[in-house]
Amino acid sequence: MMAELLKGAAVAAAMTAELAARSAALAELGVTPTLAILRVGERADDLAYERAAARRCERAGVAVQTLALPEDCSAGQLLAAIEAVNADAGIDGCLLLRPLPDRTAEAAACAALRPEKDVDGMTAASQSFVYSGAGVGFAPCTAEAVVALLEGSGVDLSGLRATVVGRSPVIGRPVAMLLLQKNATVTVCHTRTKDLAARCREAELLVVAAGREGLIGAESLAPGQIVVDVGIHAGPDGALRGDVRFDEAEGIVKAITPVPGGVGAVTTAVLARHVIEAAERNAK
Ligand code: NAP
Repeated sequence: MMAELLKGAAVAAAMTAELAARSAALAELGVTPTLAILRVGERADDLAYERAAARRCERAGVAVQTLALPEDCSAGQLLAAIEAVNADAGIDGCLLLRPLPDRTAEAAACAALRPEKDVDGMTAASQSFVYSGAGVGFAPCTAEAVVALLEGSGVDLSGLRATVVGRSPVIGRPVAMLLLQKNATVTVCHTRTKDLAARCREAELLVVAAGREGLIGAESLAPGQIVVDVGIHAGPDGALRGDVRFDEAEGIVKAITPVPGGVGAVTTAVLARHVIEAAERNAK
């Protein structure tokens, strides 16, 4: 039997309908939730994500202002852009498209953003929020999208034996924390993990965010599993593939996210939800 496909579009559409109602309520108070997208350079995948985010925001009733800096901008120019966002009462949330060529400038920019506007979870305050479940800030959108996709597809996470492959601060770690908050029992794997395939096979829920195309295949999978593939890789033919070998997985597991059309579709809906939440807090 072929695996059920956990498609992001349906979950994102349901979230967007709810968000449009919330922004309509804000509009009655004279408030337009507003996102600033800060981009350095013209990288194709940044531009693609920017377009997808802008489309989703429009449907959810969120206004978008794009601030584009030149590829060779200085750390000072980037900081000045963040300070301008911080000072602008009309901007509720800021998305800085990452990674930046200059990692030192990126770290300084992340640290400078006001946590109240940190809708993609890049400040220390947001990390503390994800870790403790309390305080200001937001989880990184992709990490939260994993949980939103699962819950929106009717998966009960409580008590589930979950394995997360990847421990990056943007995806693996926050996914593990969010699953823990939902009472899953979580194992986190990385490049030093011994017998990765066994750790994957024993999971009821397998979330793969390793950034290695096709890392996970039949040897790491078991019948009955739910698999979320966060990886995105563009092949020379332009086709997108994930960290999981889909053709091997679909004949083994119970359910799997397609790439594209899985987590990525929900990520922009989570982003819009964060901006609306920030605007609702500001309106109080
Ligand atoms: P990253 O910073 O490169 O982190 C990769 C993690 O995977 C690291 O913790 C690494 O372990 C672990 N890893 C790498 N190779 C491994 C192996 N052979 N065995 C076990 N663990 C391994 O990547 P990221 O930023 O988290 O992104 C992960 C993927 O998500 C990428 O493909 C990216 O394109 C995709 N992505 C998707 C979306 C979306 O919306 N769907 C958004 C952003 C990114 P160590 O810590 O030991 O090095």
